[in-house]
Amino acid sequence: MIKPALRPALRVVATALTAVAFAILTFGFVNRYVNEILRNDAIERSSSWTQTMVTNVSDLPEIVARQTPSDETVLFLEQARAIGNVWRFKIFDASGKLILSSHDIGNANATDDSMASEHPFAKTAIETDGIYVETRPRRNKFEPEYVSESIAPIWSQGETVGYIGLVVDETSRRDKATEVATRFAAILISIVLAAFCIPAIGFIRRSRQKEQAEGKLERLAYYDTLTGLKNRHAITQILDHETARNNERLAIHIVDLDNFKLINDTMGHDAGDACLRNVTERLTDVANGQAIVGRIGGDEFLLVQTNARSAADAEKLAGRIVREMKRPVLISNSEMDTSVSVGTALFPRDGFSSIELVKSADVALYTAKNSGRGCFRLYQPEYDDKLKRRRLVETKVRQAIDAGSFTLAFQPLLDLASGNVVGVEALIRLEDAELGAISPAEFIPIAEEAGLIEDIGNWVIAEGCRSLALLPANIKVAVNLSAIQFSRGDLVKTVNSAIRSAGVDADRLELEITESLLLRDNDDVLDKVERLKAIGCSLVLDDFGSGYSSLSYLWRYPFDKIKIDREFVAAMQKNPDVAGIVETVIALAKKLDMKVTAEGVETVDQANTLSELECDQVQGYLYSKPLPMTELASFLLRHNTVQHAGKTKIPILRAIS
Ligand code: C2E
Ligand code: CA
Ligand code: CA
Repeated sequence: MIKPALRPALRVVATALTAVAFAILTFGFVNRYVNEILRNDAIERSSSWTQTMVTNVSDLPEIVARQTPSDETVLFLEQARAIGNVWRFKIFDASGKLILSSHDIGNANATDDSMASEHPFAKTAIETDGIYVETRPRRNKFEPEYVSESIAPIWSQGETVGYIGLVVDETSRRDKATEVATRFAAILISIVLAAFCIPAIGFIRRSRQKEQAEGKLERLAYYDTLTGLKNRHAITQILDHETARNNERLAIHIVDLDNFKLINDTMGHDAGDACLRNVTERLTDVANGQAIVGRIGGDEFLLVQTNARSAADAEKLAGRIVREMKRPVLISNSEMDTSVSVGTALFPRDGFSSIELVKSADVALYTAKNSGRGCFRLYQPEYDDKLKRRRLVETKVRQAIDAGSFTLAFQPLLDLASGNVVGVEALIRLEDAELGAISPAEFIPIAEEAGLIEDIGNWVIAEGCRSLALLPANIKVAVNLSAIQFSRGDLVKTVNSAIRSAGVDADRLELEITESLLLRDNDDVLDKVERLKAIGCSLVLDDFGSGYSSLSYLWRYPFDKIKIDREFVAAMQKNPDVAGIVETVIALAKKLDMKVTAEGVETVDQANTLSELECDQVQGYLYSKPLPMTELASFLLRHNTVQHAGKTKIPILRAIS
């Protein structure tokens, strides 16, 4: 097999060789042609000379008979020689003996050279009585450069009386003939070369283009165009190869960006691409020498580590990947926080084939994602069950969306000072025949990941507004919003039309958002928050204290209320620091003209502490669990003064005294 890269070079060599061969052939022909011309010329000259001799040299028989030629003859011969370009002539007798040489006219007996000794072909000439011609370069320095030499019989009265040998200077004639023939040959060669080379060049160019196209195709087939990394196909081939050769030091890592969707959705695809390229750079740096990197999906990468001596080696690399990716990326001049989750699997422990191995790494990745992201997990068999459960729940969520089988439960919020129910939090419920009640804490993140949260969220908003219509006018309803609802669809429009079609006052709808949304701090979120506020809805910062708790959000966003996370409420009694924080938050909220709700209030002690700290509202099992609408109605009847459309007032019992 010839290497493809060498093919054009070989073609060039072949073309050149053909051209050279053709040139040699052509010049061979030129040579032969020139010789042929000179030969014919010489034959003609010889025969005309013999003719001239016979008719004009009257003493020819005497000369042949070895008598000195007459002066007249000598003169004639000299003239003829000059005219005919004859360099030398010799006259031989019938037996071939030299009689006369033009170089020593007047001295007939000066030499007794024979014709045969001078001309190898003279013998044949004598025998056949024909003209014999030879063209040749000079034999010695006295001769002209190129000559024709001929032997012709001299006939007199039907008999051969002698021979004449002519040496004619053909140098200039040869030069001229050669020049003409060469020119002709050159033209011919040029034409032929052109006819041959132009298609050859075209062919070479075409094959080069073809090879480039093939190269491009190969790159497309094996490399990812955006990042230049190996693509899924190529990296899988490498993995196949490693498992096939039973490399017991093989480990794989599936790396998934945690917030890629958000970057893409909020900052645009160019920013997404820039982010992927940046991640690629860092992954390549971390993997350097240890693993081969490939991109196997939108924001998924596969690293094939070929020399992991132990599980610890694999974990070390996975840990480094996670750490390296936590450094923020600079995209279109703004710093973006990035993080990745990594699923790691070992060969042959977690899979004998590349398919099995990838499956295990995928399961480990899922587990890493569910463990809060920004971490890695080495595959463990029990992860499979968790993943199975997750997939099952996802199916249930899809089915519930199709069947419209979600319901809302309502947990009362009480004014701590008066003990009145002032609102309810609408919490979504999913009851499944097979799995029983599935907690929103479980299925909401799954729905978010599966891209189903928009459907669910829209339903919750609409249903929340419908329930507002059923509740007394002094009761507010709070719905929870997922951060994703801010980046997809038109949340403001959804809220607006839900309020309108339910025919309720916008200020009775509270929207609970978590800090994780605000972490995505950007103008788009702020704009939406402000527009929701402009409709008249109340904004509630949910789970305050559970996450990053940056107080700056309180200044930046127009919240009406802060909900202190139940973890804080639970820790408050045992930890004075936490109680201090709660106190500070309440004081701060008051300064900022915001209300404070404490969630997860389970004990009277907690309620009392919160009361001392002058917390505005409470919510928790101490007062009520989330209730279906029917039970909520009787709860309200028992605990509140129901002001229905401002008509009836019913005295209620206090939950706390
Ligand atoms: P969350 O917004 O913090 O809701 C309060 C959660 O605390 C509810 O759990 C509620 O049942 C529970 N809870 C209330 N009082 C107590 C208490 O005294 N002790 C304890 N231990 N827990 C209490 P639930 O209903 O399971 O909801 C869990 C989370 O799911 C919610 O937390 C919320 O983040 C999310 N969620 C619920 N419904 C929706 C929804 O419609 N949309 C969105 N996006 N998220 C929802
Ligand atoms: Ca909430
Ligand atoms: Ca909460």
